[in-house]
Amino acid sequence: MKAPARASVYHALCAPSPTVRSHRPSAATAVFLTVHSKFPQNGNPRRLFSHTPRAQADFTHAVIGAGVVGLAVAQELARRSGSPGSTVLLERHNAIGTETSSRNSEVIHAGIYYGASSLKTSLCLHGKHLLYSLCSSRGIPHRRTGKWIVAQNDIQLAALEQIHSFCTSEINVPVNWVSLDEASRREPAVHAEKAILESPTTGIIDSHAYMLSLLGLFEEAGGTLALNSAVQSVTPLSGSSPVPGSAGWELVVRDPSTGEESTITAETIINSAGLGAVDIHNMIVPKDQHKKMYYAKGNYFSYPASQPKVNTLIYPAPEPGHGGLGTHLTLDLAGRIKFGPDVEWVDSPDDLAVNTTRLPQTIAEVKKYLPTLDETQLQPDYAGIRPKLAKAGAVAHGKGFVDFVIRKEDGYEGWINLLNIESPGLTSSLAISEKVRQLLYT
Ligand SMILES: Cc1cc2nc3c(=O)[nH]c(=O)nc-3n(C[C@H](O)[C@H](O)[C@H](O)COP(=O)(O)OP(=O)(O)OC[C@H]3O[C@@H](n4cnc5c(N)ncnc54)[C@H](O)[C@@H]3O)c2cc1C
Repeated sequence: MKAPARASVYHALCAPSPTVRSHRPSAATAVFLTVHSKFPQNGNPRRLFSHTPRAQADFTHAVIGAGVVGLAVAQELARRSGSPGSTVLLERHNAIGTETSSRNSEVIHAGIYYGASSLKTSLCLHGKHLLYSLCSSRGIPHRRTGKWIVAQNDIQLAALEQIHSFCTSEINVPVNWVSLDEASRREPAVHAEKAILESPTTGIIDSHAYMLSLLGLFEEAGGTLALNSAVQSVTPLSGSSPVPGSAGWELVVRDPSTGEESTITAETIINSAGLGAVDIHNMIVPKDQHKKMYYAKGNYFSYPASQPKVNTLIYPAPEPGHGGLGTHLTLDLAGRIKFGPDVEWVDSPDDLAVNTTRLPQTIAEVKKYLPTLDETQLQPDYAGIRPKLAKAGAVAHGKGFVDFVIRKEDGYEGWINLLNIESPGLTSSLAISEKVRQLLYT
């Protein structure tokens, strides 16, 4: 096993705590995250490489990617381990959560779209409860807004009936019909030609406050956050057993700001790299097992006007085969409205500029349920990209629905692979972290 280049890794791991604009470069309300690495500050900076008791590797767990899922997994594993320095969280940027985790709708989903046997359903349902509970116990800003799904024609009405039946008879999630009379009293601006199905357990969350809270839990458990640490290669090591990974894993990490490379070792790796997860996968497996990632961009448009006023999240009925949930109306915690995301297949994970040519289509979609929209007020806001394993639908009953992939990879020791972690990944994050712990330790 190659000896780790300790001095240079220390440098990468101890990059000065940055204060950076962390998300949505075009949003009016930019939030600044200050990321603290506690190790340099708690009087114990030289113990970054304290060896774990069970092996010679530098770390017990190396989690790749500090988005919301990587943060959730890292804090879960660090707390389970109980020994400071057991878990390193590697992030290529100079702040946590700057990719998909800060470019989504910030909706706590009810888990009603994805079919009875899918991981998306089970992890969203469990994750929702864990998330509401964590929000309450740690004061993370959130609100149970509820959500309406609106049907404008008979086909959409049938889709709502299917969701209603699925929720009540299969997954036991509360939903209720809202009569059109009641709807006009509660949300006079919202139009539904045929029917409205309400999901009262849907809500919204401040995803940045949530990620900072996860980071706090991680660091309290003695975890090591390594910013500016882009994983370049991942090599499974074999010792007395021929199984790749049985003697741990070697990761080459590059600091993008200096070009400096370092090598670390870990007993286990968790690939939680979001849009980079297939690249990590392909670093490990033979070429004939390589995967391809498809990028489904979602454009958002903000609506700063005060009228029409809406207090509930509004979604169109889901369409089978659609790559998302349809252009919906979401609110932030200040009550501001935004519309999105649509589905635009793009070739690059860096294609994050809002595509304003999509505006007319967005207006047409939104006006179906919000006819008094003042379309002159819509402004390009931000875009996020869904990391998909296929150009397939986001909801069950569609063409080629692809579930979350969360598994211990066959033929290797100590590798948990997380792929296709699109929506509802934010809602599911705490349940995903529990699943990863169970895959490693039961
Ligand atoms: C448009 C849109 C709307 C959505 N809306 C919702 C919603 O309302 N509710 C919901 O529950 N979910 C929603 N989601 C899904 C949710 O945002 C994601 O599932 C979740 O953010 C995924 O988190 P992650 O940690 O897996 O990925 P990411 O946030 O992408 O984090 C991965 C991290 O890995 C890092 N990384 C990548 N490669 C490397 C490497 N080689 N070395 C080191 N680091 C690396 C990246 O820099 C990144 O920080 C939405 C997604 C999109 C795109």
